[in-house]
Amino acid sequence: MSAGDTRILIIGAGPCGLGAAWRLEQAGHRNWLLLEREAYPGGLASSFVDTAGFTWDVGGHVIFSHYDLFTSVVDDAIAGRYLEHQRDACVHLLGRYVPYPFQYNIHRLPADVRDECLEGLRRAAETAAGKDPKNFGEWIDLTFGPGIARHFMRPYNAKVWGRPPEELDWRWIGERVAVPDVARITENIRLSRDDVAWGPNNTFRFPLTGGTGAIWRNLAQKLPPDKFRLNAEAVALDLDARTCRTASGELLHYDCLITTMPLTTLALLAGFDPPPLEATSAYIFGLGLEGRPPELLRTKCWIYFPAPDCPFYRVTVFSNYSPQNVPHPTRQWALMFEWCVPGKGDTAALWERTLASAQQAGLIPDAPKIASQWSKFVPHCYPVPTLGRDAALNNLLPRLEAAGVYSRGRFGAWKYEVGNTDHSFMQGVEAADRILHGREETTLNHPEIVNR
Ligand SMILES: Cc1cc2nc3c(=O)[nH]c(=O)nc-3n(C[C@H](O)[C@H](O)[C@H](O)COP(=O)(O)OP(=O)(O)OC[C@H]3O[C@@H](n4cnc5c(N)ncnc54)[C@H](O)[C@@H]3O)c2cc1C
Repeated sequence: MSAGDTRILIIGAGPCGLGAAWRLEQAGHRNWLLLEREAYPGGLASSFVDTAGFTWDVGGHVIFSHYDLFTSVVDDAIAGRYLEHQRDACVHLLGRYVPYPFQYNIHRLPADVRDECLEGLRRAAETAAGKDPKNFGEWIDLTFGPGIARHFMRPYNAKVWGRPPEELDWRWIGERVAVPDVARITENIRLSRDDVAWGPNNTFRFPLTGGTGAIWRNLAQKLPPDKFRLNAEAVALDLDARTCRTASGELLHYDCLITTMPLTTLALLAGFDPPPLEATSAYIFGLGLEGRPPELLRTKCWIYFPAPDCPFYRVTVFSNYSPQNVPHPTRQWALMFEWCVPGKGDTAALWERTLASAQQAGLIPDAPKIASQWSKFVPHCYPVPTLGRDAALNNLLPRLEAAGVYSRGRFGAWKYEVGNTDHSFMQGVEAADRILHGREETTLNHPEIVNR
C-alpha cells in the first residue's frame, strides 16, 4: 500500500488532532477522517462564552511557541487579531505579593525569610553540581535550597500536582540541576531591584476576541468539513481488525489511528491492563465583576498562591489578557481561579471558599458586584510525571504503535513537558509525518531538544 492509500483516522479535535489533520491536508493526503465527541473543536484549549457574555478559557492559556511552524499556523488562524503581553506575574506569600520569578525577587520578602532563602541558594550553589536527585522533592531542595523550597516551591507544587513532590520524577524539567544565579539575586537584594524578565514565556500572545479557543475554531474551519465530524465519540476499538466504533454505531476501518483521548481510556478500549498513569483533576472558576480591578491587579497576568490554607493555586486576571473577554470592557473585569481537586465536588461550597479566599487575599472587595459566575470541572487537567510514568509509557506506546495506533497529545502521550498547546499541535504534525514519511517524532521522543 502506498502512503497515499493509508486510511488515517484521528480521534479528537484538540490542538493535537487538528495538528495531524492540518499536516495531512498540507501534505496532500486526502484519506483521513477526524472524530470529535464534543460539539466544538479545541479540546482543553477551547473557550466558552457564558450567559452574561463573559469569555472563559479552561484556565488562562498563554500561547507561546517553541516552533516556527506553530507560530505561523497560529498567525494564520488569528490573522493578526491578537494582543502581545509582557508577563506580569507574582506570588502571594506571607500577606504580600512577590514578583515572579520568585527566586529573583526575594528582596520583597520579610528580612528573616529573605535571608533564609538567600542562604539556602548559596548553599545549593556550592553543593548541587553533579548530584542526581531521586525525585522532584530532592530536585527542589538541591536547586533552590531549603528556604525557597519551604516557602514556595514545595507548597506550591504540592497544590498543583495534588501530591507531595517526592512522588514525582524530576527529569521532565531538564537534564541537570541548574541553581539560579546567586550573584544576580544578591545584587537584586542590594539594589531592592525587581527582576521580572528572566525565564521562558516572559512575553505571550492572546487572541483579541473569542479567547484561546478562537485559534482552534478558526483552524478547524479551514479543514474540509466532510472529513471533520463533531458529536462523534469513539467508543470501541478492535486493534486486530483495525476498526473503531462510534457512539452512533458506525464501524470505521483504518490503517493508522492517531488518537488524542487520554491514554488510560485508550488502554481500556484496546483491552490492555490499566496503566499506572496519574492525572490531576481541577475546577476552573470564572468570576465576572462590575467595576474596575484594584490597582494591584491593573496590569497583572496571573498570581501564584502557594499557601496551603488558600484553596486555589493560580488566579488569572483574564480581562487583562483581552478586554474583549468581558462584555463591557470599560466597566467590567474578570478573574479565573484554578483549584486541584481529588474529584467532582459541591460546586456551590467550592464557590463560597473561592470568594472568601479571594477577599482575604485582597483580590476582590468585601461586597463585590458580581456580574457572572462560570465554572468547569476538568477531569484530566495535568498529566502527572510520576516516578513510574516513563516505564508505563515505554511499555504501552510501542505495543500500540505495532498495531498502527499513535497515541499523542497532552493526555495521549501523557508527557507534561511536551503537553502545552504548541507541543500538542506538533505531536499531531509529527505523527502525520511519521506515518506518511517515516520521519522521527522529535517532540515525543526528545523533549529536551524542543524545549532547549
Ligand atoms: C488548566 C489548564 C491550563 C493550561 N494552560 C496552558 C497554557 O497556558 N499554554 C499552553 O500552551 N497550554 C496550556 N494548557 C494545555 C493545553 O490545553 C493542551 O496542550 C492542549 O489542549 C492539548 O491538546 P490535545 O489535542 O493533546 O488534547 P485535548 O485538548 O485534551 O483534546 C483532546 C480531544 O479529544 C476529544 N476526545 C476524547 N476522547 C474522545 C473520544 N472517545 N472520541 C472522540 N473525541 C474524543 C476531546 O473531546 C478533546 O476535544 C493548559 C491546560 C489546562 C488544563
